[in-house]
Amino acid sequence: MAQNEFGYYHEISLTISSPDVEPVSDYIIENICGSLLLEDEDEDSRTTIRFYVADQVDVDSRVAGLSRYLAEINSNYESINLRRKRIKDLDWIEAYKKSVVPVLIGNSIVVKPPWDTETYSGRLEVLIEPKMAFGTGCHETTRGSLAMLEKVDLSSKTVLDLGCGSGVLSIYAAKRGAANVVGYDIDPLAIENSTENFAINEVEAKCRAYLGSLDDVPGDLRFDIIVVNIIKAVIVPIIGDLNERLNLGGVIILSGLLDQDREDIETALKAAGLNSFEIRHDNKWVTYRIDKK
Ligand code: SAH
Repeated sequence: MAQNEFGYYHEISLTISSPDVEPVSDYIIENICGSLLLEDEDEDSRTTIRFYVADQVDVDSRVAGLSRYLAEINSNYESINLRRKRIKDLDWIEAYKKSVVPVLIGNSIVVKPPWDTETYSGRLEVLIEPKMAFGTGCHETTRGSLAMLEKVDLSSKTVLDLGCGSGVLSIYAAKRGAANVVGYDIDPLAIENSTENFAINEVEAKCRAYLGSLDDVPGDLRFDIIVVNIIKAVIVPIIGDLNERLNLGGVIILSGLLDQDREDIETALKAAGLNSFEIRHDNKWVTYRIDKK
């Protein structure tokens, strides 16, 4: 989602039955935009998917493509209502700011907005300026990744944060003593937001965010810790490559995964020779810690 000249975005949302969320999310990520928000509707097993597209992007044809895809996977969706709203960037941010609350994670972490002056005794603070990039600490997958990282020795380690979003995981790793952290994300807005958050947290000497995916990480770089909080469709095909990028004794943390993804993930882990892992559950989400022995 690139920043556009006029600062306008389209907010697009749709409510579908929960089992269809995964294929529809994959379609949106592959064809329209790299980050989306999922909200479970309390009263039934339906989920609302929401995402934001910059104004200059060819929104009409992409939305039409999504409608066709929905009709293909489920005939009930032939007349589905894709809700669309044109919003000014700043309105969205101001409304969102009011709803941001500090999030306490594990025993020793708080993720909070920069304007929160409250202190949280014994907790390491990660300050996140809420923008459109994903990663304010509220989502189960960010929480899961941080809770796993909390138990990893990060001191003097080299870290890759693939799909860095707001930079939240990179910042935490740097504050815990990592020597060097590189973030990659395919969304230019995430790079902008991560870079801003690195400065707010005064970790810019250790952290850099780059536009791109795993293929764009220079081939000679190896890491002690790799965190990937994206989705199954992105993670499964790259597990072998992640393993090659990981030093012996290193740790991979995978999140953005649902309970139903476990079989595919574990098949891919075994194929890569990664047999030592533990799992953390949070609602229907799972986070893996994999140790390379
Ligand atoms: N690390 C943050 C953000 C996770 S959201 C956190 O834990 O909260 C997932 C991010 O991955 C999004 O910002 C999205 O743009 C990015 N992404 C999606 N596919 C990607 C890919 N193939 N390579 C790199 N980043 C990707």
